[in-house]
Amino acid sequence: MEKKIRVCESCGEKITGRSDKRFCSDYCRNTKHNEANKDSSNYIRKVNNILRRNRRILAKFNPHGKSKVLGNVLMEEGFNFAYYTNIYETKKGMRYHFCYDQGYLKLEEGWYALVERQEYVK
Ligand SMILES: [Zn+2]
Repeated sequence: MEKKIRVCESCGEKITGRSDKRFCSDYCRNTKHNEANKDSSNYIRKVNNILRRNRRILAKFNPHGKSKVLGNVLMEEGFNFAYYTNIYETKKGMRYHFCYDQGYLKLEEGWYALVERQEYVK
């Protein structure tokens, strides 16, 4: 029977020995592992940056804990509506999106109500 040739997932060298081995050496296993960690922490850093920027923009337009702003104005500042930390829904069914302590509620005609967390979330 022909034996399947296995190659190292890191360097591509042929692997000998146990059939469940994925890497030719500890060095290659560690290299691959570190690369995977680097990718996920880059992604996490990017998301964190977007969330922090969103929070900063909301806070900028809401210096006194309650205000109203047009969505276009937020987007001109670089606000990204796809990223938020949590949603809070009131008993009346109004859905607030939060970026940390800064939240917003979609109103009519492109307007958003801005709030600070302690008013709506325990
Ligand atoms: Zn290798």
